[in-house]
Amino acid sequence: MNRRLILNLIRKEGALSRADLAAATGLSPAAVTFVVTDLLAEGYLIEGETAPGGGGRRPVPLSINYRGSLAIGVKMNLGSLDCVLTDLSTAVISSLSVSFDSPSPQTVLSAAEAAIGRLLRTVPEQAGKLTGVGFSMPGTIDMAAGVCVSSNRFGWRNVPFAGLLRERISAPVWMEDDTLAFALAQHLFGLGSQHSVFLALAVGVGIGCATVANGVVLRGAHGHAGKLGHVTHRLEGPMCECGRIGCLQTFHSVPAIVDSWRRGKGLGSELDRYSMKEAALQGDDLARTLLQRAGEDIGVHLANVINSTDPEVVVVGGEAVTFGDLLFDPMRKSLERYCYSRPPAVIPDEREHFWAAGAAALAIQGLFNFEMATGG
Ligand SMILES: [Zn+2]
Repeated sequence: MNRRLILNLIRKEGALSRADLAAATGLSPAAVTFVVTDLLAEGYLIEGETAPGGGGRRPVPLSINYRGSLAIGVKMNLGSLDCVLTDLSTAVISSLSVSFDSPSPQTVLSAAEAAIGRLLRTVPEQAGKLTGVGFSMPGTIDMAAGVCVSSNRFGWRNVPFAGLLRERISAPVWMEDDTLAFALAQHLFGLGSQHSVFLALAVGVGIGCATVANGVVLRGAHGHAGKLGHVTHRLEGPMCECGRIGCLQTFHSVPAIVDSWRRGKGLGSELDRYSMKEAALQGDDLARTLLQRAGEDIGVHLANVINSTDPEVVVVGGEAVTFGDLLFDPMRKSLERYCYSRPPAVIPDEREHFWAAGAAALAIQGLFNFEMATGG
């Protein structure tokens, strides 16, 4: 308990001395010294240089030894796994992507095992120990049991994937819905780390929006929280992967936006979101209109979430970040129009590998979070 209190304070505030820690936590100096000595010995903390000048004994700043331990993150996409090896702050050390033919659990297990083996061969010399592996995919996940309860996109039902992977790689494995894992990484080390209440919006193959409040990613009673893509946008429309009609993501997920553009222009499937962005920047009216409409519509639903959660900021990830302000400016206009109060800032995370880094955070959160599931 005190270990996590101290590690969390240093994660949020940066380097602190033992005296700072005692003042901020209310623990006695002896208790702080006791815990800090342990954390130094285990390699989770390091001592910095003392500040120059002044007389007497200068306080020694203590920082988290982010480079002292490693984590692996694996994000499951349609047909591929994006994998990263990271340090304790989810900063990427190496990355790779592997493809698979069918999304059957056995095929994905073998692909993940091979990818993790290859990543481990890239571990730098004298690097720290592997904390574990985090695996993320869209769906409903029982995090405590390490089971994918259901994933409509991949057709999985009750797959105890974390345990199966653990047997193959002999390291702890955690799994979580991809949007919730993305939110966790933003909370611990990303654009949300300085905010007590924020939203993590992800617009990619699906659309998700997780709420982080007072240090906790809200998963809901069944792990279904954050399914913004499945709010009803129209009463009629194409069928969604969830089996319902009219879900927001059937209109404005990245594949839906790009598809509408290709069909409207009679273009081939080789043109992707980058081509669409380029066309929009060159003045393609259809591309611009589709992005504007998507931004506005997602913005309306986002405003509804903002009106019910009152976040400080909205952090955005997902493949839609490629479109930049072509998408975000119309979204911000909707927020201006529909938010009850002054709308929060919409901040895109443009880092590469943010999905897989989010998965890596699953393996790291145990060090910082008071409540979490154990690895499978
Ligand atoms: Zn749906």
